[in-house]
Amino acid sequence: MMNDTSYIATLEKVRKVYHMGEIVISALHELDLSIKRGEFLAVVGPSGSGKTTLLNLLGGIDTPSSGRITIDGEDISGFSQKELTYFRREKIGFIFQFFNLIPTLTARENVDFAIELASRDKVPPSRSAIELLGVVGLEQRLNHFPAQLSGGEQQRVAVARALAMDPALILGDEPTGNLDFSTGKLVLKAMKDLNVAEGKTCIIVTHNTPLAQVADRILHLHDGRIAEEEIVERPIPPEEITW
Ligand code: ADP
Ligand code: MG
Repeated sequence: MMNDTSYIATLEKVRKVYHMGEIVISALHELDLSIKRGEFLAVVGPSGSGKTTLLNLLGGIDTPSSGRITIDGEDISGFSQKELTYFRREKIGFIFQFFNLIPTLTARENVDFAIELASRDKVPPSRSAIELLGVVGLEQRLNHFPAQLSGGEQQRVAVARALAMDPALILGDEPTGNLDFSTGKLVLKAMKDLNVAEGKTCIIVTHNTPLAQVADRILHLHDGRIAEEEIVERPIPPEEITW
């Protein structure tokens, strides 16, 4: 299974323990998980259940205490900080809850900046900032600064930015967490379109259980363990989701 190329990510007995002085916090317990190429996975669960920890391990922001993590054929579990930096830049597109755009750069410049960073150590990305902003439906907002954009538009700029290096994996930690329901649906639609049209693997953490129904599979975490795994037979198009 480890060498099966139909999987973009496999976790084998992955544990994550945090030490806070005397206190030991087990954020993930021996997690086993395989994610298929082109899959749209939603991770849900109560606050503190390990969702962000899982995403950070998948994206090489954090390292496991034990166990093995293979991403796109590479065992990243033993990577140094420097190797992880390259790995993240090449393979991972992150989307965060608070957009994290640079306020003094326009939409186009924010995406250009990511492209510039990506092309430092990889072949120059094949798509321009204008094309990427077109992918998320923002061709009319190229020269707007973040403050001149709605929350949903800012998050779609963040999606375009995440695509700059043509990542193998798109990771979103509560990408709709700071948006109202209908705006959140637009952002999810942009991600789902990419997933369908370009076969991009997407993994999102969400608090919002109705929104998780856009995914092919829903992983329920509880106390650092997989409490339930739900295959969604007929994922719902984001625009059709209601409360
Ligand atoms: P979720 O995203 O589901 O809310 P997290 O993955 O952020 O959960 O956290 C899981 C557990 O690990 C929580 O008990 C949290 O307090 C703890 N934790 C997360 N990150 C750290 C850290 N950097 N240092 C110490 N404890 C942490
Ligand atoms: Mg979290």
